[in-house]
Amino acid sequence: MSKVIVVGGGAAGMMASIAAAGAGDEVTLIEKNEKLGKKLFITGKGRCNVTNSSDIETVFSNINRNPKFMYSALYSYDNNAVMSFFEDNGCKLKVERGNRVFPVSDHSSDIIKTLEKVLKAENVKVLLNKKVRSLIIDNNVLMGVILTDDSKLTADKVILATGGLSYPATGSDGDGLRLARDSGHKITDTVPSLIPLTSDEEWVNDLQGLSLKNVTFSLISGKKTIFSELGEMLFTHFGVSGPLVLSASSFYQKEAEKNSDIYASIDLKPWLSEEQLDKRILRDFEENRNKSFKNSLDGLLPKRLTETVVKLSGIDPDTKVNLISREERKTLLNLLKNLSFKITGTRPIEEAIITRGGVSVKDINPSTMESKLIKNLYFAGEMIDIDAMTGGYNLQLAWSTGHLAGSKKEES
Ligand SMILES: Cc1cc2nc3c(=O)[nH]c(=O)nc-3n(C[C@H](O)[C@H](O)[C@H](O)COP(=O)(O)OP(=O)(O)OC[C@H]3O[C@@H](n4cnc5c(N)ncnc54)[C@H](O)[C@@H]3O)c2cc1C
Repeated sequence: MSKVIVVGGGAAGMMASIAAAGAGDEVTLIEKNEKLGKKLFITGKGRCNVTNSSDIETVFSNINRNPKFMYSALYSYDNNAVMSFFEDNGCKLKVERGNRVFPVSDHSSDIIKTLEKVLKAENVKVLLNKKVRSLIIDNNVLMGVILTDDSKLTADKVILATGGLSYPATGSDGDGLRLARDSGHKITDTVPSLIPLTSDEEWVNDLQGLSLKNVTFSLISGKKTIFSELGEMLFTHFGVSGPLVLSASSFYQKEAEKNSDIYASIDLKPWLSEEQLDKRILRDFEENRNKSFKNSLDGLLPKRLTETVVKLSGIDPDTKVNLISREERKTLLNLLKNLSFKITGTRPIEEAIITRGGVSVKDINPSTMESKLIKNLYFAGEMIDIDAMTGGYNLQLAWSTGHLAGSKKEES
């Protein structure tokens, strides 16, 4: 029986502990917080989008960074395995829009309780309020860890699963990245991903609190459209947020390294072609022919947006609609199909759903998650340079890498 230490009681660390204990190892899980799964608790707005039930090709296509590195981890423990794990251990799941999987109870706490139940059943020793300060390494072989209270714990295998840099109040503050760096591993640049975007445009900030459904949000860099999807978004005091914007941010980051002139464009009426929308406007104008322009768009837009669009159009708000010229109507049409503003950046990494960058995959064996530099040291979860889109895919990466890191190495 080998002695295994897992550092970090998040999704990846708990799954790694369960896999190692299931394989017959004596496992100690060390977590610096007073409880396990603090970040898991806030996932999916407290409901925990635990994985995604799409086919495996779709899962791979939703991984932004280093999908190939994930082959062994995902094929050995895929989304079906994750769903079976929770269901078999008494946590019923349901599938929602976009194949997102949630606990039936809509409580992330049930996901944590299930993991805790299995950790207990597998006799994993859980040390809470204990922080790993450094690794004991001898001749490039991992021997154990030293805690901040100076105690030393020896081990045959140590799995680091300390998370990324976002939402540091949950415990993921980059501590493990320091441990990895100090032991010679390359850490690729860490930047926020799945993060709200900022804009200085006054009218954008004025619309704070307004949420739009069924719009198309695009990002335009020069003549290139780097992102375009239909869905839901939100205006905030700093710019834009919501599901569409978080997804778009993954594409923004990459492009912003090359070009700082990136614009957002919102199609407020994606179901109508320009021609159809023009007809619709003409019809509305006809019905409201004696009304002023500012009072004629109620059927088309939410009230707050009407005020903005009227202002941006440059058309006199008090003009009677039957006096609006063809040219002015074209300006209005353009605003409705292409409400555009400059993106100035992202919110800070602390507010990101996920950290892009981390321990370089070049320093990790993808078939085992073991370090290529330090024997018996393993990595799992968000601290590795892997990330994915929203939809349950990031937790799937944590479950899969955690499970593989905890599993026994195949004897060659
Ligand atoms: C608001 C929000 C919502 C999200 N929603 C979803 C969602 O619905 N679906 C989805 O797929 N993904 C979601 N994510 C992403 C997902 O939560 C993460 O990808 C995932 O939790 C990463 O798991 P992890 O185990 O690698 O790291 P973490 O969950 O960050 O766990 C790392 C643990 O290590 C501990 N630790 C760190 N350093 C030390 C040390 N030196 N000693 C001891 N312990 C240490 C930390 O305290 C922490 O508990 C969300 C993220 C956020 C911020």
